[in-house]
Amino acid sequence: MNKKNDSRPPETDHRPNLPDLTPPELAELCARWGEKPWRGRQLAVWLFRRGAEDWDQMTDLAKNFRLKLAEGARLAWPRLEASAEDQEALKLLWRLSDGLRVESVLIRERNHLTLCLSSQVGCALGCLFCRTGTLGFTRNLTSGEILGQVLGAKRLIRPGERLTNLVFMGMGEPLLNPEAVLRSLYVLNAPDFLALGKKRISLSTVGILPGLKTLSEGPDIGLTVSLAAP
Ligand code: SF4
Repeated sequence: MNKKNDSRPPETDHRPNLPDLTPPELAELCARWGEKPWRGRQLAVWLFRRGAEDWDQMTDLAKNFRLKLAEGARLAWPRLEASAEDQEALKLLWRLSDGLRVESVLIRERNHLTLCLSSQVGCALGCLFCRTGTLGFTRNLTSGEILGQVLGAKRLIRPGERLTNLVFMGMGEPLLNPEAVLRSLYVLNAPDFLALGKKRISLSTVGILPGLKTLSEGPDIGLTVSLAAP
């Protein structure tokens, strides 16, 4: 990570965080900066296929362009703060750029490796059986914070293993954050980027109808509805 880029407090840093942009938005940003449109595609590959954490990793981008990026944009992914592993699961604690934390869990079952993702910091719904529900709601995750859990977890997978499934079933109710979930699905599903495929992505929800409507505009994913709603 470019240290200069990290030095401003998040609450006063209004530069766009590139992991939160979709590939078309990256192309638009490059066009606004007077760069060739294919620069956006290069950036998207560095971010969403390779999970670049530092402008200096983007070695096929001209140095001037990297300087422009470091000055005009942020590159903030969730940072792994702690992990705990047993036979069946690897629990991951992520620190977000504003210091808040969320969890995700990699679950090993026979031939499947499933990542359970968070979509919010805390949760407003308070289901009786759920520890997250006791925390209350703090804020929605951005699409970059959702994707960062996937890219970060992929780096921790053992040799010979492959991430086979994703489920939005960690902290938060995904259909109360449908815009960011939808934006992340475009990258998770896209053959050029994480390419998990719609049959491998599912979402657990208590059933929030406006959120379902928003999601229906996106890729076709599996949907699991939890009936344990408050
Ligand atoms: S919606 Fe999910 S995260 Fe929120 S309280 Fe219920 S079970 Fe917990």
